[in-house]
Amino acid sequence: MTIALEVNQLSKTYPNGKKALNGVDLSVPEGSFFALLGPNGAGKSTLINILADTVHPSTGQVTFLGKDLFTERRWCKQRLGVVPQEIAFDPFFAPRDILKIMSGMFGVKPDLKWIDELLERLELSEHAKKNARQLSGGMRRRLLVAQALVHKPKVVILDEPTAGVDVELRKRLWGFMRELNAAGTTILLTTHYLEEAEELCDHVAIINQGKLLTSQSMKGLLDNVGSSSLVLTYAEPKAMTDNIASKLKDFCPRIQDNTITLSLKKCDGHTNFNDAYQAAIACWGEALTVHIQDEDLEDVFLRITQDEATA
Ligand code: ADP
Repeated sequence: MTIALEVNQLSKTYPNGKKALNGVDLSVPEGSFFALLGPNGAGKSTLINILADTVHPSTGQVTFLGKDLFTERRWCKQRLGVVPQEIAFDPFFAPRDILKIMSGMFGVKPDLKWIDELLERLELSEHAKKNARQLSGGMRRRLLVAQALVHKPKVVILDEPTAGVDVELRKRLWGFMRELNAAGTTILLTTHYLEEAEELCDHVAIINQGKLLTSQSMKGLLDNVGSSSLVLTYAEPKAMTDNIASKLKDFCPRIQDNTITLSLKKCDGHTNFNDAYQAAIACWGEALTVHIQDEDLEDVFLRITQDEATA
């Protein structure tokens, strides 16, 4: 397996003393569709901004397609496309011109056929000649994606690319990313939509408080770390009190109206179903319905990040 991006012991302390990354190691295989997940403030954007050269790391190394990212920036920039969270282009140019200018900045001749294809695939053709400041927030976000792809990079990094983009458009954007990935482009993304990460990505890393908690194949995470949940429904909505939260702390309880979900852990091939069930009825009484469901990425994510928070 060739590694597209290898991050070694990367740390970042901001001038105000905030340690946003704390010795992160990460390997992104070439050709993978890689999800970088973590709660707000985990350090995801800091990591991406270091890769994009907008934040300087305090310590650590990054190897990009076999080259040192920090000393061979120019070579790496020609092969890397980053979609930042912040809108970063001159609002007085039209999208098509912005894409032509960007090509030059990446050191390639503008490929007009590719630029028109990007505008079309990202549903910006109609707006290609408008002033970028006339574009809506969602359109500007798509222009950022087009900008990052204009030089046909081998690796694309997207920081929350679909935040604020409506569902249909999000699906189409992901369809396009899937095609690029199938054609060999490595894609690393952060997203709040865990369902989408589960559906799209074949690898996943979870970071919290600047530290890497896990990094493995999506299937491996869901098969090995993920077990199942106990779902109880009641006639009336239930509430969480401090007392109940402390009694159920081993099960990462989640309440949504009248439905309660408890995480079951695997132990010697068995789950602690009975302990979870008894604990739940001790808190809320007999449930109307009880069933077990396999954990999805969201359950695993919550459990891993909560385990870390209470460790
Ligand atoms: P995420 O993208 O996972 O939400 P960030 O990388 O944006 O996380 O932030 C990680 C931590 O670093 C947070 O506590 C955030 O407040 C802090 N942080 C981010 N940028 C700066 C900055 N420029 N100066 C100081 N602290 C920062």
